[in-house]
Amino acid sequence: MRTSPGAGYDLGYPVVWCPKYRSPVLGGWVEDRLEELIRAEAGERGWEIVALGVMPGQVRLFLKPCPKNSPSYVVGQFKGFTSHYLRAEFGHSRSWSPALWSRSCFVATAGAVPAGTVQRFLQTQDERPSKGGAVRRSFTFLLRPTVKQATALAACLEDHRALYNAALEHRRTAYAKVGVSVRYGDRSAELKHTRADDPGGQGRWSFSSQQATLRRLDRAFRAFFDRVKAGRTPGFPRFKGQGRFDSVQWPKDGDGCRWDSQPGHPTATYVRLQGAGHVRVHQHRPIRGRVKTISAKREGSRWYVILSCDDVPAGHLAATADRLADAQRDLAGRKRGSKRRRKAVARVAALHGKVRRQRLDHAHKAALVLVRGYDVIVHEDLRIRNMTRSASGTIASPGCNVAQKSGLNRSILDAGWGVFLTVLAYKAESAGRELIAGNPAGTSRTCARCGHCAKDNRLTQAAFACTACGHAAHADVNAAINILRAGLALRQAAEAA
Ligand SMILES: [Zn+2]
Repeated sequence: MRTSPGAGYDLGYPVVWCPKYRSPVLGGWVEDRLEELIRAEAGERGWEIVALGVMPGQVRLFLKPCPKNSPSYVVGQFKGFTSHYLRAEFGHSRSWSPALWSRSCFVATAGAVPAGTVQRFLQTQDERPSKGGAVRRSFTFLLRPTVKQATALAACLEDHRALYNAALEHRRTAYAKVGVSVRYGDRSAELKHTRADDPGGQGRWSFSSQQATLRRLDRAFRAFFDRVKAGRTPGFPRFKGQGRFDSVQWPKDGDGCRWDSQPGHPTATYVRLQGAGHVRVHQHRPIRGRVKTISAKREGSRWYVILSCDDVPAGHLAATADRLADAQRDLAGRKRGSKRRRKAVARVAALHGKVRRQRLDHAHKAALVLVRGYDVIVHEDLRIRNMTRSASGTIASPGCNVAQKSGLNRSILDAGWGVFLTVLAYKAESAGRELIAGNPAGTSRTCARCGHCAKDNRLTQAAFACTACGHAAHADVNAAINILRAGLALRQAAEAA
């Protein structure tokens, strides 16, 4: 039992919170420092920590704070304090800004909290919001359903429409009669019964796609209430008439749906949709990123599938490079001496500057990670200039594979290796780290396991497979190991001398 002015108490409870999107960032040095900060803050406030566990993706704390402070206040204080210091001390990983922690926390009454409950809380922290978070790209392809599949898709749409309308009706009457507002959660729980009662109808379709339809209604209501609040003409959500409900979404690839469901098929792509089967897709272009949600949409007599994909981190740099390429193309088409040309020149120059700044920023971040994590850093002695020159060869001995090589050199220059190495060298020196340039000669052709050196080891630009011992790896990884070895050998020789 403890006392604070005017109260005696013995009140404790567990709290759990986690970094945004549950990124597993709380390892190593961060972990130690975070523990230290939490204890410091608790000590300052006079809050007693009974148990503290920092895991890479979450913080668990059993706490006996002063009863005058609400749990959300307490957690808020911890989050603010630790976020401030950790972000200042451990740099600015993009996922850490503008805040390190997710906004929610889990608080329970004392006693054993079932592991499942905490697990459920953590699961809700997993997904990145599509707004403001990761960039989503969507791809639309024409579907080529068989007659039977088209019938099934139409029935699927019709049943989802009925579900939407029934839920809307329910909310309207409940609200009108007793002033109760029915939430998405209530309807979602009821969905189970609806499905069980109608196995040949509603029960045929994916549970998740039906939930998505209910959420759609929920969004319509939220928008309605927002409009009411803002004092605009509200417009109550409407029943969807036939032809007014044209798409169904499956919120997760693999849950009632599967993109590329027959990957072995030699000529066609298929998407499997629960209740309709494997539907053929006219995939007229490749997709990029990982498929997150799948939707089917009807337009007239045609059906389309819409994939929403997480954009693989092409990154700001690549995006700016694309814009630069566009701007350069635009410039090339302008008449000399024209006003538009002057503008285009300015735009190209501005984008060049932006690429340069972004590259420098990247280089600083990447170099910082290396310098923090390692005492000795070995890099390939690229001699960028030499490589750039050698590709074209001389008249006496023209370079071989000039086209590919110039492409390669381009990509090296694009990646800004020169800038990166300069930044790295500077940072390594000021941090007292050792930076060694290893001789790259032959490293891309030599097997890192057995030392067998042959041109045939290198199958493609990316794949390495040793013809002597069978060792297979990414060509860059294999070469990197060789370079590291070369660098360390150099270092040993220098020490011995
Ligand atoms: Zn080998």
